[in-house]
Order: sequence, then C-alpha cells, then structure tokens
Amino acid sequence: MTQNPGKPASPADLRALDLYEFAENKRQAAGALRVAQLPRMLAEVPADAPDRDTVFTWQGEGSTQPELQDDGTEAPQPYVRLAVHGSVWLMCQRCLSPYSQHLDVDATYRIVATEEEADEYPLEDDEVEVIVGSRQFDLVDLIEEELLLSLPLVPKHNVCPKVHESLISGGEEGEAAEGGENDVEKPNPFAVLEKLKKSDPDDKKH
Ligand SMILES: [Zn+2]
Repeated sequence: MTQNPGKPASPADLRALDLYEFAENKRQAAGALRVAQLPRMLAEVPADAPDRDTVFTWQGEGSTQPELQDDGTEAPQPYVRLAVHGSVWLMCQRCLSPYSQHLDVDATYRIVATEEEADEYPLEDDEVEVIVGSRQFDLVDLIEEELLLSLPLVPKHNVCPKVHESLISGGEEGEAAEGGENDVEKPNPFAVLEKLKKSDPDDKKH
C-alpha cells in the first residue's frame, strides 16, 4: 500500500482519526487492511494456512442525528457506521485443517464523550453500539476488534473435506474404523459427531 499523506484513508490517519469531525461533516472513507496489519487477527490464522495475509475491505460513514440533551436543548448526536468484509484462514476444530472463513461486519455506533456516558447508555437498541469518541480515534483498532468479535465460537468447515485421524481413531480401536478409513472422501458430519460423543469427554487429549 502506498502512503498518501492528506488522504483520509491512509493507514496513519486511520490510527488517529478525528471521529467527531468525521461524524459532523458526514464524511465517508473506505480502504483495505491486510491481516498482517491486525496482529490479534493474525494470531488466529494457522501457520499452515495457504494465505496468512488476506485482505479485508472496509467502509466508514459519519452522520449526526438531532437528539434531546440532558439540559433540554437539542444537539446533533454523532454516529458512525462501519462495514467490513473479507475472509481469513482459521483452523477447523473438527478436522484440524485450515479453512477460509468469510466475515461480515456492519455496525452503527453512537459516539459518546466518556466511558461513564457509554456505561449509562441504555441498551434498548440492539442495532446501535456505543463507543467513546476521540479527536485521535484508532479506527484500525475498532475494525480489528469487530472482526475478532465476528469470529465463529467454534471455527469449522461446513463440511470437512476429510476427517482427521485423531477423530477416526478417537481412543476406540477396531469398530471406530467402520465405514472404511481409506475410501471416505466426504464423511457424514453426523457420523463424526457420533464418534465424538462416544469418546470419553474427560479424555479430550487425542
Ligand atoms: Zn474441517
């Protein structure tokens, strides 16, 4: 990526964005971030992934809405909307091989001045999150945070290409191999589940 001083989408500016100005002037910005720029995301990528440095595209949009303040006057309440799309390689927890996981983030934030104000804000609206604004806001950090939150609790293929040996043997001998261990290309995921249920839950160390 080339550095473009003065352009709002350059990485340096994204680390110190005037979020209030962004909202008040209804600015829009967009760009791309590589996983290599997001260390906490990179930590989730298995070492043997085909591509550890995938790209996420993002769009941000500022806005304000007139709202009644505590003192009874109406003032513009700043908001920012953030959308992030892309894929990251994760370790499938079922077959222990890397797979590509698509992630989508679309979040709207009410920008408040202090942590106290953020804590006070009633969580009546699931659609809107609350963030503490700043004249030097780290938008990259927010994007990374949202991507981490959007990761699946248990990363796994929809259908695993093959079952890992540790699941086939599963601590059981003989009968565990039923169904044939050589000619199984697309194992039935429910069969895999059965194998998991049969194995001793106290002995998860394969
Ligand atoms: Zn898998």
